[in-house]
Amino acid sequence: VINFAAGPAKLPDEVLKEVQQELLDYNGTGMSVMEMSHRGAVYTKIHEDAIKSIRELLNVPDNYKVLLMQGGGTGQFSAVCMNLIGRTGSADYIVTGSWSLKAYKEASKYGTANLVFPKPDKFTTIPNQSEWKLNPNASYVYYCDNETVDGVEFDFIPETHNIPLVCDMSSNFMSRTFDVSKFGLIFAGAQKNIGPSGVTVVIIRDDLIGHALKITPSVFDYADVAKNNSVSNTPPTFIIYFCSRVFEWIKRNGGIEGMNKLAMKKSSLIYNTINNSNNFYTCPVDERYRSRMNLPFRIKGGDETLEKEFLKKAEQLGMMQLKGHRSVGGIRTSLYNAITVENAEFLNKFMNEFYKNNKM
Ligand code: PLP
Repeated sequence: VINFAAGPAKLPDEVLKEVQQELLDYNGTGMSVMEMSHRGAVYTKIHEDAIKSIRELLNVPDNYKVLLMQGGGTGQFSAVCMNLIGRTGSADYIVTGSWSLKAYKEASKYGTANLVFPKPDKFTTIPNQSEWKLNPNASYVYYCDNETVDGVEFDFIPETHNIPLVCDMSSNFMSRTFDVSKFGLIFAGAQKNIGPSGVTVVIIRDDLIGHALKITPSVFDYADVAKNNSVSNTPPTFIIYFCSRVFEWIKRNGGIEGMNKLAMKKSSLIYNTINNSNNFYTCPVDERYRSRMNLPFRIKGGDETLEKEFLKKAEQLGMMQLKGHRSVGGIRTSLYNAITVENAEFLNKFMNEFYKNNKM
């Protein structure tokens, strides 16, 4: 089976096997990581190694903290706002898809959230930066680097003129290199590219810590989490251990640049097939902003009978979870780090055959 799900998503087979080997006895302790005290020496090392690997892989500068939190990406929609909006009372939101829209709506509960451009009816592109209206008094500017549902991915880092930039990288984290110092805060749920669901990585610049609204729960207060090295309460120990194994796997496979090369190769294969299909397959997203991670497409302009058949035949061949998100319909394939080039080639071959058999 090849799992093309949008998340929770396929994990590297190699890591699953390693973890299976250690499930009952971690490193000669006679215990599973799941059963250990989160304050004991063995788990503390796992925890610190995971944070160290994130710093190493992403070249995180010294004036940033790496936090491991719970509550998912959705938790961060609130946490970001509760921690940062108090600085001026307002924040700017760049809404390019379903997830940034959700974050914007959540932020409106805690302060004044402004849209940088009017909400588009369909999320298929990123309006030109010259059309954005940034508020010079905003506490932060928020955007989502890769919209998982809509398949819209930024190919640039927004210019915010020294206003802290906050980015949701949940669905393309660790799939390409980027300059952390351009951001005030980055967050990413684990369940696409770096592990199972249950932990959210937050990378935050030191000067942005310590401005939380009084109502902020302490588990969401970055100052509290940072002060306690992300163990103020019980962390998702097993998930963090799993992620630390994925980080080692990324290091063995060319690091983040290696992941990017694979992502380019896999996604261009599928997009080329879409582009060369005489509109049999269509992707609604502007070519420039097509996501390397989540590729939505329709068949014959949205022929639902044919799309159902595509999904059925794909499943018979072992290709699972290719159905598009209910809000956009059609097909969506997700090509996260653990999807191999061979997996993408297998799908591509099927797409070409399906085209040949049904183009008339
Ligand atoms: N942001 C993005 C880009 C996502 O894809 C998702 C979930 O798929 C979320 C946020 C929400 O994450 P969670 O389900 O962990 O709250």
